[in-house]
Amino acid sequence: MRYISTRGQVPSIGFIDAILMGLADDGGLLVPEQIPQVSDATLKQWQRLTYSELALEVLTLYVENEIPRQDLKKLIDDSYATFRHKEVTPVRRLDDSRYVMELFHGPTFAFKDVALQFLGNLYSYVSRETNSVIHILGATSGDTGASAIEGVRGKEGIRICILHPHQKVSRVQELQMTTVADANVLNLAVQGTFDDCQRIIKELFADVDFKRRYHLRAINSINIARILAQTVYYFYAYFRMLDQGHDAQINFSVPTGNFGDIFAGYLAKRMGLPIHRLILATNENNILARFVSEGVYQPGEFRKTYSPSMDIQIASNFERYLFYLYGQDAEKASALMAQFKAEGRIVVAGDALKQVQTDFLADSVRNEDCLDTISEYYEKYDYLMDPHTACGASASDKLAANGEKTVVLSTAHPAKFDEAIRLRNIHQSYPEPIEALFEKPQFQTVVDVSNEAVREQLKGFFNS
Ligand SMILES: *Cc1c(COP(=O)(O)O)cnc(C)c1O
Repeated sequence: MRYISTRGQVPSIGFIDAILMGLADDGGLLVPEQIPQVSDATLKQWQRLTYSELALEVLTLYVENEIPRQDLKKLIDDSYATFRHKEVTPVRRLDDSRYVMELFHGPTFAFKDVALQFLGNLYSYVSRETNSVIHILGATSGDTGASAIEGVRGKEGIRICILHPHQKVSRVQELQMTTVADANVLNLAVQGTFDDCQRIIKELFADVDFKRRYHLRAINSINIARILAQTVYYFYAYFRMLDQGHDAQINFSVPTGNFGDIFAGYLAKRMGLPIHRLILATNENNILARFVSEGVYQPGEFRKTYSPSMDIQIASNFERYLFYLYGQDAEKASALMAQFKAEGRIVVAGDALKQVQTDFLADSVRNEDCLDTISEYYEKYDYLMDPHTACGASASDKLAANGEKTVVLSTAHPAKFDEAIRLRNIHQSYPEPIEALFEKPQFQTVVDVSNEAVREQLKGFFNS
């Protein structure tokens, strides 16, 4: 399997090079040269597999023989052994048409663990096999940083530095990142906003000399390994629905920010998984929902919401979908992205817009509706959802038709977003591993908002 860029200016590369490249060198995103096709007969065989066995089959289609099967199996087994639930991503039935797939049983109680546990082990494997140093640099508004650190803490050959905005992440998120004592982890708390953190990272990555000298690698959601790892659970949930005797019109509703998770669902469908509808749920930062309804992709004004991990203005994985929308057309994707850069918007009309509306249903969930949904599900089903998941549930309640079954992807444990849940007078107790965080010492370095300050810290850390 070879990987190409959505902008067509990178010679095709193998799986490991694609992982290491992160963002394609031409500014595009890497995608598999062909989407592997899974037959009905294969689907039938896969239905009996455990989560890890299934992950091995799905990922083998994308890795082929670049990693020996036994090695890939070990990577996958190690990645999902850290999950607290034996099914890894269990599917819960609420009623005959409503199901929730819980993606939050990993170390940091957020769905990002599903991909980042795997990516951490993969980086560690590549470092060992190629005898190379891997230094991960990233910025986070909360969940990604904690999850990425958990993915590589204590691993040989890897160091990780994560920037977060000082005192602007939730208390639990801060503790998850900063109570990690391993020497290969550096937390920089930047005295600014998340946007400042991201800008600094971007500028450091753009300094090619610095990037090479310090072996910098990215972990953001444009890494194709993250997408591929996430396709697995769509198959897994679909099979659990079959186990329950449902075999037609199964939808997935996906709380969406950067379009990574729902793109994984789109890819699973293109591989041959007979998903009925993909429901794209946004919060009030609804560029993607507006795109699906009107065909106009244009950032709006920033709104504060209860689901901060979906507070995005530009969806970093969206370009991958544009590439497929026009039949794997790199020229078209490049032209549209150039237009976006120049004019600040992309317009899709006619047959292409019809295709978009066939591929997705979409809804933007208002803040009050999000909290209402949490209350309603808590009362009706005795099921407590976090605000991100609630956006998915609210959208599917609005958009799924009679007779359809919808699996809502639950992307975070409710304890991570207790501040919002308490607004509805719902009181939960924290799971023990989260409770324990409050007792642990913290390790972080507070720095000014400046490239130089961060650069100095990185030099010290990566040279040590
Ligand atoms: C990252 C995240 C999302 C959004 O996922 P995307 O792949 O960026 O669309 C939704 N919910 C939670 C809790 C997240 O951490």
